Amino acid sequence: MNIVVQKYGGSSVGSIERIQNVARRIIAKKNQNNKMVVVLSAMGDNTDDLLKMAYQISDKPPKREIDMLISTGEQVSISLLSMALDAMGHKAISLTGPQVGIKTTGHHTKSRIMDIDDAIIRKYLKEDKIVIVAGFQGINEKSDITTLGRGGSDTTAAAIAGKLQCKCEIYTDVDGIYSLDPRLYPNARKLDFISYEEMLEMASLGAGVMHSRAIEIGQKYNIPIYVASSINDVPGTIIKESEKNMESALITGLAIDNNDAMITLNHVPYSINVTAEFFDNLAKKDINIDMISQTSPQDNGVNISFTVPKNELSDAKEILVYMTKKYPDISYEIKEDICKLSVVGIGMRSQSGVAAKIFVLLAKAGIQVEMVTTSEIKISYVIKPADQKKAVEVIAVEFEL
Ligand code: ADP
Ligand code: ASP
Ligand code: MG
Repeated sequence: MNIVVQKYGGSSVGSIERIQNVARRIIAKKNQNNKMVVVLSAMGDNTDDLLKMAYQISDKPPKREIDMLISTGEQVSISLLSMALDAMGHKAISLTGPQVGIKTTGHHTKSRIMDIDDAIIRKYLKEDKIVIVAGFQGINEKSDITTLGRGGSDTTAAAIAGKLQCKCEIYTDVDGIYSLDPRLYPNARKLDFISYEEMLEMASLGAGVMHSRAIEIGQKYNIPIYVASSINDVPGTIIKESEKNMESALITGLAIDNNDAMITLNHVPYSINVTAEFFDNLAKKDINIDMISQTSPQDNGVNISFTVPKNELSDAKEILVYMTKKYPDISYEIKEDICKLSVVGIGMRSQSGVAAKIFVLLAKAGIQVEMVTTSEIKISYVIKPADQKKAVEVIAVEFEL
């Protein structure tokens, strides 16, 4: 049985006409002797609209109820697609995450897939049905519906493909993965291939085109992920294990994240126990920290800066308040007006000097850097949002992105 998992994102199913277009594409693929499993996102901005309603009721709605609410968007799109396929003469069945046995764990609104009961999908495929699965959702140990984090339908698709050991195709509103978001830099290059490792960094650092967990799962099961347009029939990008010739470019991509805030703690007692206590408290709340930098000790105190997603700030603030009460010397500062710019490339492993080159480019452009962190294949800079356009331009031109 030749199975293909296809996933279509929100804008690709944003209207009845788009849903009918998706139905025709699925039928064309099915007619090439494939059994089809289709994962969908909610229509257009539906998830945002649902969230807006929640926040009209409360500043801090219970996360269980947020999941209950936002998981409904996918139920609308899957049922409509099933009806469209039926109207075109094809047998289909729409199923929610819980119905296909997508077991999740972890915190509400950012849970993780533990397992999928593939017997249910296989049964319907044997009946020659097109199986349409709601993306982004599953059911946890308490039988509560949970969601996988914004953009999580990619992860549903990758997890199903991993379980079924079959092809995974992600269809979206761009023609593939570009060296950087083509909306920010229209001259960006479309990549034919990108390694799991680089795509994982790009996705984690703000390239919203793919959900980072989907890449982890693709890599774990060694399933290449094909990303392409749901409208234009042009070749897309394959995300797969790196090969020698993929290592030629020094920088493969650039990612921008405007959804992070920077927190600086001043006068933290110079004690690893205090630092550990602080970050452990953040981790217990599952707050996602990215960049961390610490000054060298002065007067037995250090300053620590780090970035957190803005939508996790209110949880982080609770810990800041707790820690400043416990250690009255500590003061903190929160900066929401920041932009995180990151460059990613496995070429950096073998060639040095990228950070220096970018410092020179930014200096020439008069752009101040507030924080920098590096790892083997990435460098991230915190800059002012007003400098983003210029910084992207000078880096993209220099590194031919
Ligand atoms: P979908 O609803 O199909 O999941 P998303 O909005 O999640 O679509 O992802 C597609 C968007 O990702 C594109 O419209 C594009 O603006 C953005 N994007 C960010 N970085 C990149 C990149 N490096 N390559 C391509 N698209 C990118
Ligand atoms: N509908 C969800 C979101 O908007 C999941 C997804 O699109 O992948 O985040
Ligand atoms: Mg997406």
